[in-house]
Amino acid sequence: MKEKTLFGKEKTLFQNDKSLFGKDKNPSNILPAKYTLDSKIKFRCHPGVSCFTECCGNIKIILTPYDILQIRKRLHMDAAEFLHTYTEPTYLEKTDFPGVMIKLTEEGRCPFIKSKIEGCRIYSDRPTACRYYPVGMANFHEGAQEEQSSEEFYFVVKEPHCKGFEEDKTWTVREWRADQGVDKRDEMNKGWMELVMRRKSFGYQATLSEQAKRMFFMASTDLDQLRSFIFDSSFLKTYDVEQETLDRIKTDDVELLLFSYKLMASMLFGTNDIKVKPDVLKAKVQAIKKDQETTGKTMEERAEADFKKIKEEWDKAKTA
Ligand code: SF4
Ligand code: SF4
Repeated sequence: MKEKTLFGKEKTLFQNDKSLFGKDKNPSNILPAKYTLDSKIKFRCHPGVSCFTECCGNIKIILTPYDILQIRKRLHMDAAEFLHTYTEPTYLEKTDFPGVMIKLTEEGRCPFIKSKIEGCRIYSDRPTACRYYPVGMANFHEGAQEEQSSEEFYFVVKEPHCKGFEEDKTWTVREWRADQGVDKRDEMNKGWMELVMRRKSFGYQATLSEQAKRMFFMASTDLDQLRSFIFDSSFLKTYDVEQETLDRIKTDDVELLLFSYKLMASMLFGTNDIKVKPDVLKAKVQAIKKDQETTGKTMEERAEADFKKIKEEWDKAKTA
């Protein structure tokens, strides 16, 4: 099975680059050139090409949280129904973050193909990976951690079956991306991609608890459940969230999606995007001191107990 890549990489050309959605299983299909936004590509995909929908089979299409939101709304499905019907679980490449990919039919085809002539039945809401193809984007990181510089560039995947390269249409990478609606997707996916990149940079040395994985999965796939966790659990007694933000995320799914990235960054990586309430923090510090005095527990033991408590609360909220 090949993969439609967003951030593919060609190891032999671009060592050390960070890739989110994996690399093409056959790197020889990646043209050996770095493209910029102003580079030109000769390509066109339309129902008249003889290979129409050929690229919509035997592929792994990872769905971003924004993809899930858009497609399930298009199909008038709630998250649980959509996930169950159209997706299967996977791990986001080179991380232990759980995600979902499109569940292919028994014939190995995407379930959203309407027909060979009509193409994709969710075309205007198709996933990010489908929009990128055949122009991927990569981030090349160089140097030690502290002095790291990064360079963003594009690459082109040219597979033998794809006749789009024989079409008489030339445009810049910038024009292609605008036409495919990639920029909007990038904006919506950015915070989530950063989480995955960050996780990826840890490698497998730092183990993620099952509860943390479940939390990431829930926030990434089911905004209704996340909303219920925020408003119906003790979450707001602990975290300081401005009323204006609460008003927005209560009804607006996109706002909640963007908020969820910050929440995950705070909960999983301690970024402080969403802060613990000062009085809760103060009470916690006092409790730690008191606990240390009375039980002689170390900071580490105390932190472990606190973490367990948070996990329990999370589980309770999930099953409520
Ligand atoms: S031209 Fe390429 S992208 Fe378009 S349908 Fe054919 S294989 Fe897919
Ligand atoms: S979602 Fe649409 S464009 Fe993407 S693989 Fe499926 S049918 Fe093709």
